[in-house]
Amino acid sequence: GVTMAKSKFEYVRSFEVDDSCLPHCWVVVRLDGRNFHRFAEKHHFTKPNDKRALHLMTKCAQTVMEELEDIVIAYGQSDEYSFVFRRKSNWFKRRASKFMTLVASQFASSYVFYWRDYFEDQPLLYPPGFDGRVVVYPSNQTLKDYLSWRQADCHINNLYNTVFWALVQQSGLTPAQAQERLKGTLAADKNEILFTEFHINYNNEPQMYKKGTVLIWQKVDEVVIKEMKLPTEEEAQETTVTRTRNRPMPLYCDIMGDAFWKEHPEILE
Ligand code: ATP
Ligand code: ATP
Ligand code: MG
Ligand code: MG
Ligand code: MG
Ligand code: MG
Repeated sequence: GVTMAKSKFEYVRSFEVDDSCLPHCWVVVRLDGRNFHRFAEKHHFTKPNDKRALHLMTKCAQTVMEELEDIVIAYGQSDEYSFVFRRKSNWFKRRASKFMTLVASQFASSYVFYWRDYFEDQPLLYPPGFDGRVVVYPSNQTLKDYLSWRQADCHINNLYNTVFWALVQQSGLTPAQAQERLKGTLAADKNEILFTEFHINYNNEPQMYKKGTVLIWQKVDEVVIKEMKLPTEEEAQETTVTRTRNRPMPLYCDIMGDAFWKEHPEILE
């Protein structure tokens, strides 16, 4: 082969630091929307949960899983999504900066690209951004605890937001008054307020709001239309072909208990 002559400037490459993630560990990239409190207001998100926004976030996460390598599970709620790379992944030599920036940029460009499919009559007013971080977990238990932590956060915030917005939207309290009313209340108190004042049984709220969204690879049958032209025929015939594909599919289920991991042991392989 040809030996490339190195320029006298080449030495600056040695200033780059090794940020490869510890081998055999789970690598998690978590993204979070930048200043989405404001973004949600400007784009008239429904409160407490805007379905369009949650589905758009999941579409972006599915795109990330399809386009990048080695993501085995993702978990999303509110304006955040976590992506877990398989333990033995050697994608980009496990460099944290590659993982983080590729996830963040693929996600952000997808958010803009697919916006119109979810927010039909709400124009996108400015380009949103997402921050990213990488965290490495050394064992299955710490990874499961990480995901449990995010799902517990989803639950706590959603219970709070559901009561908060009921007090504002249905009882006419100002946000400050609603906040004051909820100060120091426990989960049981919030359930009680919802039930007695608003006839809402929190258990019956949508699973997607209470649990967040879990994306795992599942086999799905996809029907595609193929143009087929036999040598003996003049015109091509349209026929449907069913193909089995692996796709990142959403689940709205508990991932804190053992049941989920027993049902899907392949995730942690
Ligand atoms: P930061 O840049 O520090 O993350 P932030 O304003 O994004 O600031 P977060 O703690 O990430 O703060 O909170 C995200 C906010 O975005 C929520 O508090 C909520 O107001 C809003 N939000 C995100 N997704 C939705 C949704 N699907 N429906 C309604 N509101 C949402
Ligand atoms: P990687 O994902 O490893 O970065 P890559 O295909 O992006 O792979 P690069 O070394 O970054 O590889 O090279 C970028 C390539 O993109 C160039 O080799 C060139 O083919 C193409 N390219 C980028 N910008 C332009 C441009 N303005 N005009 C024509 N070609 C371009
Ligand atoms: Mg934040
Ligand atoms: Mg945010
Ligand atoms: Mg957030
Ligand atoms: Mg390139």
